[in-house]
Amino acid sequence: MHGSPHPAPLPRRSWRWLLTAVLLAGSLAPVTARPVALALGDGTPAGTPVSTPATREGQGDSDPDLYAGVVPASREAIHGQTAGDLSRYAIDLVVTPATADELTVFSGTVDLLFVNPTSRPLDEAVFRLYPNDERYGDGDIAMRDVTVAGGPVEPDLSVGDTVATIPLGTELAPGEAISITYGFDGRVANDPAGSYGMFTYSPGSGTLALAHWYPVLAGIEVDEDWKVEPVSVNGDPVFSNTSLYDVTITLPADWQVAASGVEVESDASGDRLARRFVTGPSRDFTFVADTSFERISQRVGETEVVAWYDTASRDGAEAVLAAGVATLEQYQPLLGEYPFVEMDLVEVSVGNGAAGIEFPQLMFIGGSYYDEAPVSPPDTSYLESLVVHEVLHQWFYGLVGNDQYAHGFQDEAITNYLMAYYFGLQYSPEAFEVCYLSQVEIPYLRYLFDRGDMVVDFPSDEFVPAADYVIAAYYKGAVGFGAINEAIGDDAFFAGLRAYVAEFRFAVAAPSDMLDAFEAAAGQELDGLWANWFEGENGAADFSPADLQSAEARLAELRAAG
Ligand SMILES: [Zn+2]
Repeated sequence: MHGSPHPAPLPRRSWRWLLTAVLLAGSLAPVTARPVALALGDGTPAGTPVSTPATREGQGDSDPDLYAGVVPASREAIHGQTAGDLSRYAIDLVVTPATADELTVFSGTVDLLFVNPTSRPLDEAVFRLYPNDERYGDGDIAMRDVTVAGGPVEPDLSVGDTVATIPLGTELAPGEAISITYGFDGRVANDPAGSYGMFTYSPGSGTLALAHWYPVLAGIEVDEDWKVEPVSVNGDPVFSNTSLYDVTITLPADWQVAASGVEVESDASGDRLARRFVTGPSRDFTFVADTSFERISQRVGETEVVAWYDTASRDGAEAVLAAGVATLEQYQPLLGEYPFVEMDLVEVSVGNGAAGIEFPQLMFIGGSYYDEAPVSPPDTSYLESLVVHEVLHQWFYGLVGNDQYAHGFQDEAITNYLMAYYFGLQYSPEAFEVCYLSQVEIPYLRYLFDRGDMVVDFPSDEFVPAADYVIAAYYKGAVGFGAINEAIGDDAFFAGLRAYVAEFRFAVAAPSDMLDAFEAAAGQELDGLWANWFEGENGAADFSPADLQSAEARLAELRAAG
Protein backbone atom coordinates (compact mmCIF):
# COMPACT_ATOMS: atom_id res chain seq x y z
CA MET A 1 0.00 0.00 0.00
CA HIS A 2 1.21 3.46 -0.81
CA GLY A 3 0.36 7.06 -0.31
CA SER A 4 -0.26 6.96 3.41
CA PRO A 5 -0.80 10.46 4.74
CA HIS A 6 1.08 9.33 7.84
CA PRO A 7 4.41 7.91 6.75
CA ALA A 8 6.21 5.90 9.36
CA PRO A 9 8.57 7.98 11.48
CA LEU A 10 12.17 7.78 10.42
CA PRO A 11 14.47 5.98 12.81
CA ARG A 12 17.09 8.11 14.47
CA ARG A 13 20.46 7.02 13.17
CA SER A 14 22.50 5.81 16.04
CA TRP A 15 24.67 3.03 17.27
CA ARG A 16 21.67 1.63 19.03
CA TRP A 17 20.27 0.92 15.59
CA LEU A 18 23.36 -0.85 14.40
CA LEU A 19 23.70 -2.87 17.57
CA THR A 20 20.07 -3.91 17.35
CA ALA A 21 20.62 -5.12 13.82
CA VAL A 22 23.71 -6.98 14.92
CA LEU A 23 21.89 -8.66 17.77
CA LEU A 24 19.00 -9.64 15.54
CA ALA A 25 21.39 -11.00 12.97
CA GLY A 26 23.18 -13.03 15.57
CA SER A 27 20.02 -14.39 17.14
CA LEU A 28 18.51 -15.60 13.91
CA ALA A 29 19.74 -19.15 13.77
CA PRO A 30 19.25 -21.09 10.55
CA VAL A 31 16.03 -23.05 10.69
CA THR A 32 17.80 -26.21 9.65
CA ALA A 33 21.19 -27.20 8.40
CA ARG A 34 19.63 -28.40 5.17
CA PRO A 35 17.62 -26.25 2.81
CA VAL A 36 13.90 -26.50 3.10
CA ALA A 37 11.93 -26.60 -0.11
CA LEU A 38 9.30 -24.04 0.75
CA ALA A 39 5.84 -24.62 -0.57
CA LEU A 40 5.64 -21.91 -3.18
CA GLY A 41 2.28 -21.21 -4.71
CA ASP A 42 1.57 -20.86 -8.38
CA GLY A 43 1.64 -17.10 -8.17
CA THR A 44 -1.06 -14.83 -6.90
CA PRO A 45 -3.13 -12.59 -9.14
CA ALA A 46 -1.74 -9.08 -8.87
CA GLY A 47 0.26 -6.58 -10.85
CA THR A 48 0.59 -6.57 -14.59
CA PRO A 49 0.41 -9.51 -16.97
CA VAL A 50 4.20 -9.36 -17.36
CA SER A 51 4.50 -9.90 -13.63
CA THR A 52 2.05 -12.79 -13.50
CA PRO A 53 2.38 -15.04 -16.52
CA ALA A 54 0.50 -17.76 -14.63
CA THR A 55 -2.77 -15.88 -14.94
CA ARG A 56 -3.13 -16.68 -18.64
CA GLU A 57 -2.77 -19.81 -20.74
CA GLY A 58 -0.07 -19.11 -23.29
CA GLN A 59 0.60 -20.95 -26.54
CA GLY A 60 4.31 -21.47 -25.97
CA ASP A 61 6.27 -24.71 -25.82
CA SER A 62 5.15 -26.83 -22.85
CA ASP A 63 7.46 -29.83 -23.47
CA PRO A 64 8.33 -31.18 -19.99
CA ASP A 65 11.85 -32.11 -21.22
CA LEU A 66 12.64 -28.39 -21.32
CA TYR A 67 12.37 -28.39 -17.51
CA ALA A 68 15.23 -30.87 -16.91
CA GLY A 69 17.20 -28.04 -15.30
CA VAL A 70 14.61 -27.75 -12.51
CA VAL A 71 14.97 -29.84 -9.34
CA PRO A 72 12.72 -32.93 -9.52
CA ALA A 73 10.74 -31.99 -6.39
CA SER A 74 9.59 -28.72 -7.97
CA ARG A 75 9.55 -29.65 -11.65
CA GLU A 76 5.84 -30.36 -11.92
CA ALA A 77 4.84 -27.24 -10.00
CA ILE A 78 7.13 -24.95 -12.01
CA HIS A 79 6.01 -26.55 -15.26
CA GLY A 80 2.43 -25.96 -14.16
CA GLN A 81 3.18 -22.35 -13.29
CA THR A 82 4.99 -21.41 -16.50
CA ALA A 83 4.33 -23.93 -19.29
CA GLY A 84 3.05 -22.23 -22.42
CA ASP A 85 3.73 -18.73 -21.11
CA LEU A 86 7.47 -18.47 -21.78
CA SER A 87 9.28 -17.95 -25.06
CA ARG A 88 11.51 -20.89 -26.03
CA TYR A 89 14.92 -20.67 -27.67
CA ALA A 90 16.33 -23.78 -29.40
CA ILE A 91 19.88 -22.75 -30.33
CA ASP A 92 22.54 -24.65 -32.23
CA LEU A 93 25.95 -23.01 -31.83
CA VAL A 94 29.32 -23.90 -33.35
CA VAL A 95 32.42 -22.17 -31.96
CA THR A 96 35.80 -22.08 -33.70
CA PRO A 97 38.39 -21.13 -31.07
CA ALA A 98 40.96 -18.43 -31.65
CA THR A 99 44.38 -19.23 -33.08
CA ALA A 100 47.54 -17.17 -32.89
CA ASP A 101 46.35 -15.27 -35.98
CA GLU A 102 42.56 -15.46 -35.89
CA LEU A 103 39.90 -14.33 -33.43
CA THR A 104 37.32 -16.72 -32.00
CA VAL A 105 34.39 -16.98 -34.40
CA PHE A 106 30.98 -18.54 -33.91
CA SER A 107 27.94 -19.31 -35.95
CA GLY A 108 24.51 -20.55 -34.99
CA THR A 109 20.85 -21.00 -35.73
CA VAL A 110 17.89 -20.19 -33.50
CA ASP A 111 14.40 -21.65 -33.56
CA LEU A 112 12.52 -19.22 -31.31
CA LEU A 113 8.91 -19.68 -30.31
CA PHE A 114 8.09 -16.16 -29.15
CA VAL A 115 5.17 -15.75 -26.74
CA ASN A 116 3.69 -12.26 -26.36
CA PRO A 117 4.15 -11.65 -22.61
CA THR A 118 2.27 -8.35 -22.57
CA SER A 119 -1.43 -7.56 -22.26
CA ARG A 120 -1.54 -5.80 -25.63
CA PRO A 121 -1.16 -7.00 -29.23
CA LEU A 122 2.37 -6.77 -30.64
CA ASP A 123 3.19 -6.20 -34.31
CA GLU A 124 6.96 -6.42 -33.95
CA ALA A 125 9.62 -8.28 -31.98
CA VAL A 126 12.73 -6.47 -30.76
CA PHE A 127 16.13 -8.13 -30.28
CA ARG A 128 19.37 -6.98 -28.66
CA LEU A 129 22.73 -7.57 -30.36
CA TYR A 130 24.90 -6.71 -27.35
CA PRO A 131 28.25 -7.81 -28.90
CA ASN A 132 28.02 -4.88 -31.33
CA ASP A 133 28.60 -2.43 -28.48
CA GLU A 134 31.95 -0.67 -28.83
CA ARG A 135 33.19 -2.00 -25.50
CA TYR A 136 33.67 -5.39 -27.17
CA GLY A 137 36.32 -4.07 -29.55
CA ASP A 138 36.55 -6.29 -32.61
CA GLY A 139 33.75 -8.48 -31.29
CA ASP A 140 30.46 -8.34 -33.16
CA ILE A 141 27.35 -10.26 -34.18
CA ALA A 142 24.97 -10.24 -37.15
CA MET A 143 21.59 -11.87 -37.77
CA ARG A 144 20.84 -13.55 -41.10
CA ASP A 145 18.08 -15.57 -42.76
CA VAL A 146 15.36 -14.22 -40.47
CA THR A 147 11.90 -15.71 -40.90
CA VAL A 148 8.61 -15.06 -39.12
CA ALA A 149 5.95 -17.76 -39.38
CA GLY A 150 7.98 -19.24 -42.23
CA GLY A 151 8.25 -16.07 -44.33
CA PRO A 152 11.49 -14.10 -44.78
CA VAL A 153 11.79 -10.67 -43.11
CA GLU A 154 14.53 -8.03 -42.84
CA PRO A 155 15.59 -6.82 -39.40
CA ASP A 156 15.85 -3.06 -38.93
CA LEU A 157 19.04 -2.16 -37.00
CA SER A 158 19.30 0.81 -34.63
CA VAL A 159 21.04 2.04 -31.44
CA GLY A 160 24.53 1.41 -32.84
CA ASP A 161 23.44 -1.92 -34.35
CA THR A 162 22.63 -3.24 -30.86
CA VAL A 163 18.87 -3.32 -31.54
CA ALA A 164 17.19 -5.33 -34.32
CA THR A 165 13.47 -4.82 -34.87
CA ILE A 166 11.52 -7.45 -36.77
CA PRO A 167 8.00 -6.97 -38.16
CA LEU A 168 5.68 -9.81 -37.22
CA GLY A 169 3.28 -9.14 -40.10
CA THR A 170 0.37 -9.69 -37.74
CA GLU A 171 -1.09 -8.46 -34.49
CA LEU A 172 0.18 -11.09 -32.05
CA ALA A 173 -2.40 -11.37 -29.28
CA PRO A 174 -1.39 -11.59 -25.60
CA GLY A 175 -0.23 -15.13 -24.83
CA GLU A 176 -0.16 -16.03 -28.51
CA ALA A 177 3.01 -17.61 -29.91
CA ILE A 178 4.76 -17.13 -33.26
CA SER A 179 7.75 -18.90 -34.80
CA ILE A 180 10.83 -16.75 -35.49
CA THR A 181 13.95 -18.40 -36.93
CA TYR A 182 17.32 -16.84 -37.67
CA GLY A 183 20.98 -17.52 -38.12
CA PHE A 184 23.78 -15.51 -36.56
CA ASP A 185 27.53 -15.12 -36.97
CA GLY A 186 29.94 -13.37 -34.67
CA ARG A 187 33.48 -12.78 -33.49
CA VAL A 188 34.96 -12.48 -30.00
CA ALA A 189 37.82 -10.04 -29.35
CA ASN A 190 40.85 -10.93 -27.24
CA ASP A 191 40.56 -9.22 -23.83
CA PRO A 192 38.61 -6.17 -25.05
CA ALA A 193 39.00 -3.25 -22.65
CA GLY A 194 35.81 -2.31 -20.84
CA SER A 195 34.13 -5.67 -21.40
CA TYR A 196 34.11 -6.82 -17.74
CA GLY A 197 35.14 -10.15 -19.27
CA MET A 198 31.56 -10.77 -20.39
CA PHE A 199 32.15 -11.39 -24.09
CA THR A 200 35.83 -12.16 -24.18
CA TYR A 201 38.55 -14.60 -25.09
CA SER A 202 41.59 -14.33 -22.81
CA PRO A 203 44.67 -15.75 -24.56
CA GLY A 204 46.59 -15.71 -21.27
CA SER A 205 44.29 -18.14 -19.48
CA GLY A 206 42.72 -19.68 -22.58
CA THR A 207 39.24 -18.89 -21.22
CA LEU A 208 36.33 -18.08 -23.53
CA ALA A 209 33.60 -16.29 -21.52
CA LEU A 210 30.39 -15.68 -23.44
CA ALA A 211 27.46 -13.78 -21.97
CA HIS A 212 24.77 -12.34 -24.28
CA TRP A 213 26.35 -14.07 -27.30
CA TYR A 214 23.12 -14.67 -29.24
CA PRO A 215 20.45 -12.30 -30.58
CA VAL A 216 18.19 -12.16 -27.51
CA LEU A 217 14.70 -10.71 -27.25
CA ALA A 218 14.91 -7.26 -25.67
CA GLY A 219 13.58 -7.10 -22.13
CA ILE A 220 10.01 -6.01 -21.50
CA GLU A 221 9.60 -3.98 -18.31
CA VAL A 222 6.54 -3.91 -16.06
CA ASP A 223 5.38 -0.94 -18.17
CA GLU A 224 5.21 -3.45 -21.07
CA ASP A 225 7.62 -1.51 -23.30
CA TRP A 226 10.64 -3.04 -25.03
CA LYS A 227 13.87 -1.80 -23.43
CA VAL A 228 16.16 -0.47 -26.15
CA GLU A 229 18.54 1.90 -24.34
CA PRO A 230 22.21 2.05 -25.33
CA VAL A 231 24.09 -0.82 -23.71
CA SER A 232 24.61 0.01 -20.03
CA VAL A 233 28.03 1.38 -19.12
CA ASN A 234 27.73 1.34 -15.32
CA GLY A 235 25.35 -1.49 -14.59
CA ASP A 236 24.63 -5.01 -15.80
CA PRO A 237 23.85 -4.79 -19.53
CA VAL A 238 21.42 -7.66 -20.04
CA PHE A 239 17.81 -7.05 -19.13
CA SER A 240 15.67 -9.89 -20.41
CA ASN A 241 12.54 -11.86 -19.66
CA THR A 242 12.50 -15.45 -18.45
CA SER A 243 12.47 -17.98 -21.29
CA LEU A 244 13.16 -21.68 -21.83
CA TYR A 245 16.58 -22.51 -23.31
CA ASP A 246 17.57 -25.64 -25.23
CA VAL A 247 21.13 -24.95 -26.38
CA THR A 248 23.61 -27.19 -28.18
CA ILE A 249 27.22 -25.96 -28.13
CA THR A 250 29.78 -27.56 -30.45
CA LEU A 251 33.49 -27.04 -29.73
CA PRO A 252 36.67 -29.07 -30.26
CA ALA A 253 36.39 -32.09 -27.96
CA ASP A 254 39.18 -30.97 -25.61
CA TRP A 255 37.18 -27.91 -24.46
CA GLN A 256 35.14 -28.14 -21.27
CA VAL A 257 31.98 -26.06 -20.94
CA ALA A 258 30.38 -24.52 -17.84
CA ALA A 259 26.92 -23.28 -18.78
CA SER A 260 23.56 -22.14 -17.50
CA GLY A 261 21.25 -25.12 -17.10
CA VAL A 262 22.24 -28.77 -17.05
CA GLU A 263 23.99 -30.86 -19.69
CA VAL A 264 21.49 -33.48 -20.87
CA GLU A 265 23.43 -35.15 -23.70
CA SER A 266 26.62 -35.00 -25.72
CA ASP A 267 27.52 -36.23 -29.16
CA ALA A 268 31.05 -36.68 -30.52
CA SER A 269 31.72 -36.18 -34.20
CA GLY A 270 35.32 -36.35 -35.38
CA ASP A 271 37.39 -34.08 -33.15
CA ARG A 272 34.36 -32.08 -32.06
CA LEU A 273 31.88 -32.55 -29.27
CA ALA A 274 28.32 -31.22 -29.21
CA ARG A 275 26.86 -30.68 -25.73
CA ARG A 276 23.17 -30.00 -25.17
CA PHE A 277 22.04 -27.90 -22.20
CA VAL A 278 18.50 -27.33 -20.94
CA THR A 279 17.76 -24.62 -18.37
CA GLY A 280 14.12 -24.62 -17.34
CA PRO A 281 12.79 -21.07 -16.82
CA SER A 282 15.86 -18.86 -17.16
CA ARG A 283 16.44 -15.18 -17.77
CA ASP A 284 19.42 -15.73 -20.06
CA PHE A 285 21.98 -18.33 -21.17
CA THR A 286 25.69 -17.83 -20.45
CA PHE A 287 28.66 -20.16 -20.78
CA VAL A 288 32.40 -20.28 -20.19
CA ALA A 289 34.72 -22.70 -22.02
CA ASP A 290 38.34 -23.64 -21.42
CA THR A 291 40.69 -26.49 -22.29
CA SER A 292 42.19 -26.64 -18.80
CA PHE A 293 39.22 -26.35 -16.43
CA GLU A 294 39.24 -28.32 -13.22
CA ARG A 295 35.94 -28.81 -11.38
CA ILE A 296 34.93 -29.68 -7.84
CA SER A 297 31.36 -29.96 -6.65
CA GLN A 298 29.09 -30.52 -3.68
CA ARG A 299 25.39 -31.25 -3.41
CA VAL A 300 22.92 -29.12 -1.47
CA GLY A 301 19.62 -30.98 -1.50
CA GLU A 302 18.89 -31.63 -5.18
CA THR A 303 21.29 -28.94 -6.41
CA GLU A 304 24.88 -29.64 -7.44
CA VAL A 305 27.09 -26.62 -6.76
CA VAL A 306 30.12 -26.67 -9.07
CA ALA A 307 33.28 -24.57 -8.80
CA TRP A 308 35.19 -24.43 -12.10
CA TYR A 309 38.76 -23.17 -11.93
CA ASP A 310 41.62 -22.73 -14.30
CA THR A 311 44.60 -20.64 -13.20
CA ALA A 312 43.56 -20.35 -9.53
CA SER A 313 44.57 -22.79 -6.81
CA ARG A 314 42.45 -25.69 -5.65
CA ASP A 315 42.34 -24.06 -2.20
CA GLY A 316 40.78 -20.98 -3.74
CA ALA A 317 38.24 -23.08 -5.64
CA GLU A 318 37.37 -24.95 -2.43
CA ALA A 319 36.74 -21.64 -0.66
CA VAL A 320 34.48 -20.53 -3.52
CA LEU A 321 32.58 -23.82 -3.46
CA ALA A 322 32.14 -23.68 0.33
CA ALA A 323 30.80 -20.13 0.14
CA GLY A 324 28.32 -21.07 -2.60
CA VAL A 325 27.11 -24.08 -0.61
CA ALA A 326 26.78 -22.07 2.62
CA THR A 327 24.82 -19.33 0.87
CA LEU A 328 22.26 -21.82 -0.45
CA GLU A 329 22.05 -23.52 2.95
CA GLN A 330 21.57 -20.26 4.85
CA TYR A 331 19.24 -18.49 2.46
CA GLN A 332 16.91 -21.13 0.98
CA PRO A 333 14.97 -21.30 4.27
CA LEU A 334 14.77 -17.48 4.37
CA LEU A 335 14.14 -16.59 0.71
CA GLY A 336 12.61 -19.69 -0.86
CA GLU A 337 14.21 -22.45 -2.87
CA TYR A 338 16.87 -22.15 -5.53
CA PRO A 339 14.94 -24.45 -7.87
CA PHE A 340 17.66 -25.61 -10.28
CA VAL A 341 19.72 -28.79 -10.37
CA GLU A 342 23.02 -27.01 -10.98
CA MET A 343 24.73 -23.80 -9.92
CA ASP A 344 28.10 -22.95 -11.48
CA LEU A 345 30.73 -20.70 -9.89
CA VAL A 346 33.29 -20.06 -12.61
CA GLU A 347 36.72 -18.47 -12.40
CA VAL A 348 36.83 -15.68 -14.99
CA SER A 349 39.07 -12.65 -15.34
CA VAL A 350 36.45 -9.90 -14.99
CA GLY A 351 38.33 -6.63 -14.44
CA ASN A 352 37.19 -3.04 -15.02
CA GLY A 353 36.54 -2.64 -11.31
CA ALA A 354 34.10 -5.55 -11.14
CA ALA A 355 34.90 -8.57 -8.98
CA GLY A 356 32.12 -10.93 -10.06
CA ILE A 357 29.10 -10.98 -12.35
CA GLU A 358 25.82 -12.82 -11.96
CA PHE A 359 24.07 -14.75 -14.70
CA PRO A 360 21.25 -17.26 -14.35
CA GLN A 361 22.50 -20.47 -12.72
CA LEU A 362 26.11 -19.41 -13.41
CA MET A 363 28.33 -16.73 -11.93
CA PHE A 364 31.67 -15.26 -12.96
CA ILE A 365 34.00 -15.03 -9.93
CA GLY A 366 37.03 -12.80 -10.48
CA GLY A 367 40.13 -14.97 -10.80
CA SER A 368 42.35 -12.43 -9.06
CA TYR A 369 40.46 -12.90 -5.75
CA TYR A 370 40.89 -16.67 -5.34
CA ASP A 371 44.23 -16.69 -3.59
CA GLU A 372 43.40 -14.38 -0.72
CA ALA A 373 45.48 -14.33 2.45
CA PRO A 374 43.71 -16.09 5.35
CA VAL A 375 41.63 -13.82 7.60
CA SER A 376 41.30 -14.06 11.39
CA PRO A 377 37.74 -13.96 12.76
CA PRO A 378 35.82 -11.79 13.16
CA ASP A 379 37.42 -10.34 10.03
CA THR A 380 35.67 -11.55 6.88
CA SER A 381 36.96 -12.96 3.62
CA TYR A 382 36.46 -10.71 0.61
CA LEU A 383 36.34 -13.76 -1.68
CA GLU A 384 33.58 -15.25 0.47
CA SER A 385 31.58 -12.01 0.41
CA LEU A 386 31.97 -11.87 -3.36
CA VAL A 387 30.57 -15.37 -3.85
CA VAL A 388 27.73 -14.73 -1.38
CA HIS A 389 26.78 -11.52 -3.21
CA GLU A 390 26.66 -13.23 -6.61
CA VAL A 391 24.73 -16.26 -5.33
CA LEU A 392 22.15 -13.93 -3.72
CA HIS A 393 21.57 -12.52 -7.20
CA GLN A 394 20.08 -15.90 -8.13
CA TRP A 395 17.00 -14.71 -6.20
CA PHE A 396 17.29 -10.98 -6.92
CA TYR A 397 17.83 -10.60 -10.68
CA GLY A 398 17.71 -14.34 -11.56
CA LEU A 399 14.38 -15.58 -10.21
CA VAL A 400 12.84 -12.13 -9.76
CA GLY A 401 13.91 -9.80 -12.52
CA ASN A 402 14.15 -6.05 -12.30
CA ASP A 403 15.04 -3.37 -14.79
CA GLN A 404 18.72 -2.90 -13.91
CA TYR A 405 18.90 0.14 -16.18
CA ALA A 406 16.19 2.12 -14.38
CA HIS A 407 16.37 0.55 -10.89
CA GLY A 408 19.81 -1.02 -10.44
CA PHE A 409 19.55 -0.77 -6.65
CA GLN A 410 16.56 -3.13 -6.61
CA ASP A 411 18.83 -6.14 -6.98
CA GLU A 412 22.24 -4.71 -5.99
CA ALA A 413 21.31 -3.09 -2.66
CA ILE A 414 19.28 -5.99 -1.25
CA THR A 415 22.00 -8.38 -2.39
CA ASN A 416 24.72 -6.34 -0.71
CA TYR A 417 22.77 -6.02 2.55
CA LEU A 418 22.05 -9.76 2.66
CA MET A 419 25.73 -10.39 1.89
CA ALA A 420 26.69 -8.67 5.16
CA TYR A 421 23.78 -10.37 6.95
CA TYR A 422 25.15 -13.76 5.84
CA PHE A 423 28.22 -13.30 8.04
CA GLY A 424 25.95 -12.98 11.07
CA LEU A 425 24.13 -16.18 10.11
CA GLN A 426 27.24 -18.16 9.26
CA TYR A 427 29.73 -16.87 11.85
CA SER A 428 28.97 -14.26 14.50
CA PRO A 429 27.41 -10.86 15.17
CA GLU A 430 30.92 -9.41 15.04
CA ALA A 431 31.52 -10.88 11.57
CA PHE A 432 28.29 -9.22 10.40
CA GLU A 433 29.54 -5.95 11.85
CA VAL A 434 32.90 -6.21 10.09
CA CYS A 435 31.33 -6.88 6.70
CA TYR A 436 28.57 -4.31 7.15
CA LEU A 437 30.93 -1.59 8.33
CA SER A 438 33.69 -2.24 5.82
CA GLN A 439 31.64 -3.00 2.72
CA VAL A 440 28.44 -1.01 3.28
CA GLU A 441 28.28 1.74 5.89
CA ILE A 442 31.77 3.23 6.00
CA PRO A 443 32.13 3.53 2.19
CA TYR A 444 28.78 5.34 2.11
CA LEU A 445 29.55 7.65 5.04
CA ARG A 446 32.97 8.60 3.67
CA TYR A 447 31.33 9.59 0.44
CA LEU A 448 28.46 11.37 2.20
CA PHE A 449 30.74 13.64 4.21
CA ASP A 450 33.13 14.19 1.32
CA ARG A 451 30.84 14.76 -1.65
CA GLY A 452 27.27 14.87 -0.36
CA ASP A 453 24.25 12.60 -0.66
CA MET A 454 22.53 11.08 -3.68
CA VAL A 455 19.26 9.47 -4.73
CA VAL A 456 19.55 5.67 -4.80
CA ASP A 457 16.63 4.74 -7.10
CA PHE A 458 18.08 6.44 -10.16
CA PRO A 459 18.98 5.16 -13.66
CA SER A 460 22.39 3.49 -13.48
CA ASP A 461 23.86 5.25 -16.50
CA GLU A 462 22.75 8.72 -15.37
CA PHE A 463 25.08 8.84 -12.36
CA VAL A 464 27.87 11.38 -12.88
CA PRO A 465 30.56 10.42 -12.16
CA ALA A 466 29.94 6.74 -12.79
CA ALA A 467 31.41 5.76 -9.41
CA ASP A 468 28.36 7.35 -7.77
CA TYR A 469 26.30 4.43 -9.08
CA VAL A 470 28.31 2.06 -6.91
CA ILE A 471 27.96 4.26 -3.82
CA ALA A 472 24.21 4.54 -4.33
CA ALA A 473 23.26 1.04 -5.45
CA TYR A 474 25.66 -1.00 -3.32
CA TYR A 475 26.32 1.08 -0.19
CA LYS A 476 23.62 3.61 0.59
CA GLY A 477 20.92 1.30 -0.77
CA ALA A 478 22.14 -1.50 1.49
CA VAL A 479 22.06 0.87 4.48
CA GLY A 480 18.43 1.54 3.51
CA PHE A 481 17.53 -2.15 3.57
CA GLY A 482 19.25 -2.38 6.94
CA ALA A 483 16.98 0.41 8.18
CA ILE A 484 13.91 -1.46 6.91
CA ASN A 485 15.16 -4.65 8.59
CA GLU A 486 15.54 -2.75 11.85
CA ALA A 487 12.11 -1.12 11.57
CA ILE A 488 10.09 -4.30 10.95
CA GLY A 489 12.28 -7.02 12.51
CA ASP A 490 13.72 -10.18 11.01
CA ASP A 491 10.51 -12.19 10.80
CA ALA A 492 8.61 -9.62 8.76
CA PHE A 493 11.70 -8.66 6.74
CA PHE A 494 12.26 -12.21 5.50
CA ALA A 495 8.54 -12.98 5.21
CA GLY A 496 8.34 -9.97 2.90
CA LEU A 497 11.30 -11.10 0.81
CA ARG A 498 9.93 -14.67 0.60
CA ALA A 499 6.55 -13.37 -0.55
CA TYR A 500 8.23 -11.09 -3.13
CA VAL A 501 10.24 -14.01 -4.55
CA ALA A 502 7.23 -16.37 -4.54
CA GLU A 503 4.96 -13.88 -6.30
CA PHE A 504 7.39 -12.59 -8.91
CA ARG A 505 9.73 -15.48 -9.62
CA PHE A 506 10.28 -15.92 -13.38
CA ALA A 507 8.74 -12.46 -13.83
CA VAL A 508 9.83 -8.82 -13.50
CA ALA A 509 9.01 -6.71 -10.45
CA ALA A 510 9.02 -2.95 -9.85
CA PRO A 511 10.58 -1.38 -6.74
CA SER A 512 7.05 -0.70 -5.47
CA ASP A 513 6.36 -4.45 -5.56
CA MET A 514 9.18 -4.97 -3.06
CA LEU A 515 7.89 -2.16 -0.85
CA ASP A 516 4.39 -3.68 -1.00
CA ALA A 517 5.77 -7.06 0.07
CA PHE A 518 7.52 -5.56 3.11
CA GLU A 519 4.41 -3.56 4.06
CA ALA A 520 2.13 -6.59 3.77
CA ALA A 521 4.48 -8.72 5.86
CA ALA A 522 4.96 -6.02 8.49
CA GLY A 523 1.37 -4.80 8.57
CA GLN A 524 2.53 -1.20 8.47
CA GLU A 525 3.16 1.60 6.02
CA LEU A 526 6.81 1.95 5.04
CA ASP A 527 6.52 4.63 2.34
CA GLY A 528 8.34 7.22 4.42
CA LEU A 529 11.24 4.94 5.20
CA TRP A 530 11.47 3.77 1.59
CA ALA A 531 11.40 7.34 0.26
CA ASN A 532 13.97 8.49 2.79
CA TRP A 533 16.56 5.90 1.82
CA PHE A 534 15.93 5.29 -1.85
CA GLU A 535 14.35 8.48 -3.20
CA GLY A 536 15.74 11.23 -0.97
CA GLU A 537 19.05 12.91 -0.21
CA ASN A 538 18.73 13.12 3.56
CA GLY A 539 21.95 11.41 4.56
CA ALA A 540 23.25 14.40 6.50
CA ALA A 541 20.15 14.22 8.72
CA ASP A 542 20.49 10.45 9.12
CA PHE A 543 24.18 10.47 10.05
CA SER A 544 26.71 12.84 11.56
CA PRO A 545 30.48 12.90 11.00
CA ALA A 546 30.78 11.46 14.51
CA ASP A 547 28.95 8.35 13.26
CA LEU A 548 31.65 7.87 10.65
CA GLN A 549 34.40 8.23 13.26
CA SER A 550 32.64 5.75 15.53
CA ALA A 551 32.19 3.28 12.68
CA GLU A 552 35.86 3.46 11.73
CA ALA A 553 36.94 3.05 15.34
CA ARG A 554 34.62 0.09 15.83
CA LEU A 555 35.90 -1.63 12.68
CA ALA A 556 39.51 -1.15 13.79
CA GLU A 557 38.64 -2.53 17.23
CA LEU A 558 36.96 -5.62 15.74
CA ARG A 559 39.86 -6.31 13.42
CA ALA A 560 42.41 -5.82 16.19
CA ALA A 561 40.57 -8.46 18.22
CA GLY A 562 41.03 -11.00 15.42
ZN1 LIG B 1 25.67 -7.44 -7.75
